[in-house]
Amino acid sequence: MTISQAAGNVCTVSTLATEKQETVNSAESQVIYLPNTDCTIKSQASLSAFTSYRVGGAAEWFLAPRNLETLQAGTRYAKERGLSVTIVGAGSNLLVSDRGLPGLVIATRHLRHSHFDQETGQLTVAAGESIPSLAWAAAELGWEGLEWAVGIPGTVGGAVVMNAGAHNSCIADMLVSAQILLPDGTLETLTPAELGYSYRTSLLQGSDLIVTQATLQLQPGADPAKVLAVTKQHKQHRLTTQPYNFPSCGSVFRNPKPYSAGWLIEQTGLKGFQIGGAQVAQLHANFIVNRGGAKASDIFCLIRHIQHQVQDRWSIWLEPEVKMLGEFQPAC
Ligand SMILES: Cc1cc2nc3c(=O)[nH]c(=O)nc-3n(C[C@H](O)[C@H](O)[C@H](O)COP(=O)(O)OP(=O)(O)OC[C@H]3O[C@@H](n4cnc5c(N)ncnc54)[C@H](O)[C@@H]3O)c2cc1C
Repeated sequence: MTISQAAGNVCTVSTLATEKQETVNSAESQVIYLPNTDCTIKSQASLSAFTSYRVGGAAEWFLAPRNLETLQAGTRYAKERGLSVTIVGAGSNLLVSDRGLPGLVIATRHLRHSHFDQETGQLTVAAGESIPSLAWAAAELGWEGLEWAVGIPGTVGGAVVMNAGAHNSCIADMLVSAQILLPDGTLETLTPAELGYSYRTSLLQGSDLIVTQATLQLQPGADPAKVLAVTKQHKQHRLTTQPYNFPSCGSVFRNPKPYSAGWLIEQTGLKGFQIGGAQVAQLHANFIVNRGGAKASDIFCLIRHIQHQVQDRWSIWLEPEVKMLGEFQPAC
């Protein structure tokens, strides 16, 4: 059963647009037609709407492809011009610098399709599909396996890269394979073993490989009411234990086992501590929330402050889970 398809037919490959010319919109912003597509690349596009923190400067160039061919055309365009490529999924694990990002930023959120195969119990999904939406869709069909993921507000691509997880499950446990776009423009299918998974980590992090699609093994045939009830329970647990009412990136730091980062931060007396609009959440000390008007630099400085305070008290240097992109002032 195919649940969704690419919404609309914009930003697709087209033979009509080959001759379209660069259009200058204003002194600061340009819109360029991507060769052989009807998709545009914009300059100086603000990224704050593309991160769950709601902060960040502008992308030098920005593209939001709606299909694989346009994604490939975008990476080709970047390669020909020597532009770096940065991939943004739902931006729910990103801190983008106030100074913005150089090169081409590609947002994958419009790469959408999903197919539930009744015979194999496999769910094949495009990189831009939303993890919570898939968890709800699977539950409504009576497919078990994604209940744990309902509170993770990322895309499939981001989850495969980050090895997203919760409630003692993670994406690596159910990943059958991931389709990857290589820098030379070709596609390759990789297995979890080839992706080198461990806690919130994969070999994809820091690489120039792009996840375009993933296949997950689920278990069909359960009572939808039962799967929906478990999914709702997980969602409810999140809402009561984590601050979903303010912009955040979820947990900021990895848990330095055997400790939890949240416990260390709370015991250091940092709950509620604020720099500018960025605050250590009262509800969960491993969350930094944007209380309104925060800059990326406020969040960055709060991360550094927490690291130093926890180091002084516990001799443990907390490693960020959040991916920091762009330039940040080393001193706060
Ligand atoms: C309220 C809240 C709760 C959260 N709870 C959890 C939780 O319980 N468990 C958990 O694991 N995480 C959690 N997170 C963090 C986050 O949702 C996950 O890390 C998620 O998997 C990130 O997906 P994304 O699409 O937003 O990726 P992004 O944040 O956009 O990107 C993350 C990294 O992946 C790369 N990337 C993204 N898509 C692709 C792609 N298609 N190809 C190649 N690289 C790509 C980016 O370049 C970046 O390096 C939470 C976040 C929030 C805001």
